[in-house]
Amino acid sequence: MAEFTMELNDEQKEVRDWLHGFAADVIRPAAAEWDEREETPWPVIQEAAKVGIYSLDFYAQQYFDATGLGIPMTMEELFWGDAGIALSIVGTGLAAVGVLANGTEEQIGTWIPQMYGDANDVKVAAFCSSEPDAGSDVASMRTRAVYDEAKDEWVINGTKTWATNGGIANVHVVVAVVDPELGSKGHASFIVPPGTKGLAQGQKFKKHGIRASHTAEVILDDVRVPGSCLLGGKEKLDARLARAREKARKGGERVKNAAMATFEASRPAVGAMAVGTARAAYEVALEYAQTREQFGRPIIDNQGVAFQLADMRTAIDAARLLVWRASWMAINGKPFTAAEGSMSKLFASETAKKVTAQAIQILGGNGYTREYPVERMHRDSAIYTIFEGTSEIQRLVIARTLSGMPIR
Ligand SMILES: Cc1cc2nc3c(=O)[nH]c(=O)nc-3n(C[C@H](O)[C@H](O)[C@H](O)COP(=O)(O)OP(=O)(O)OC[C@H]3O[C@@H](n4cnc5c(N)ncnc54)[C@H](O)[C@@H]3O)c2cc1C
Repeated sequence: MAEFTMELNDEQKEVRDWLHGFAADVIRPAAAEWDEREETPWPVIQEAAKVGIYSLDFYAQQYFDATGLGIPMTMEELFWGDAGIALSIVGTGLAAVGVLANGTEEQIGTWIPQMYGDANDVKVAAFCSSEPDAGSDVASMRTRAVYDEAKDEWVINGTKTWATNGGIANVHVVVAVVDPELGSKGHASFIVPPGTKGLAQGQKFKKHGIRASHTAEVILDDVRVPGSCLLGGKEKLDARLARAREKARKGGERVKNAAMATFEASRPAVGAMAVGTARAAYEVALEYAQTREQFGRPIIDNQGVAFQLADMRTAIDAARLLVWRASWMAINGKPFTAAEGSMSKLFASETAKKVTAQAIQILGGNGYTREYPVERMHRDSAIYTIFEGTSEIQRLVIARTLSGMPIR
């Protein structure tokens, strides 16, 4: 187990500087264009693939980094460049984690490379869980997967929504109900391979922020996938369902939800994205406050402005510390006794929204225009308090974990 540290080691510093260079030289200059176009920035993803940032190898190296700081560092730097473009680059990784966490070795080896493609022919992947009537309330999911034993195939029907890369992905990971009696314990994840009949993109959403990232509905109409596409395999699923049925029969004894532990481990990554956006806006505001003059002196000469910058930086550093702590806990298998993963995501996402709004205020009229990046960063930051669980849901999770009570 690696000791918790607040300092990156030499190798990590090198990777961070390399990522920062890419974010500064390639991502940031392209940000305004792709925000306006509201399209997936394929040339930037390709560029990231060429240098090795968009690759399974790089992502896995950071994901398994024993200090736990690889993923937060990567997210912070890329999202410092631009949130929409960065999500287009890391969205595949988020789907890949679903396979890494639940898939067999064979499934990992078969499907993850197809999620990325190669530098000359890049592909993306999508993770499809949310539905029109099942957002925060995941247990209301209706997409159904039924096993056709004669053909050893699963037949999936339903409508997914809000899927990042939905419909344009080479590989879709789809969560579906396999036993409706068991609520969220009766869900399973499936790979839908490239070109599978019956999967189609529905509406593509026009969004407030992160507009370079593609978000769409995914319609599944009698989608048939081989038995081998059930993540983890049928034997493991049957054993898990049998355990859940037994617990339900014994009278609703509280079952430790494996999905919750997964969320605690994945939420700090979203917190790190928020730290990246917040830091970017703070840096623009600090520089502006030092150079913009009113009343014959730089505006930072006023405590009203300087104190805001002091608060912004304090909150960003606090957010990063919460994120790093939770990431370190996740890689070391520490129990999240105070929902520290949710805590980090809650604080970092709220910080990003607040800090980007303060940055607009410090830039005055300029902050409100698209001539400066802080207005885009503010629009982008609003996603962090919504996806991977809203702020209200984070508070619910933290409060339930602290109290052991089923707070609603
Ligand atoms: C840009 C974008 C990308 C996304 N990418 C993906 C993706 O790749 N894959 C995927 O599966 N999903 C994705 N999502 C979906 C996202 O995770 C959901 O939007 C989110 O979980 C909230 O669900 P909802 O939108 O249905 O809101 P709702 O659940 O309807 O919530 C509406 C409001 O009610 C509040 N609320 C709900 N229940 C409670 C409660 N019990 N107590 C207090 N307040 C409550 C919420 O906090 C929120 O403020 C994405 C969403 C967006 C916008």
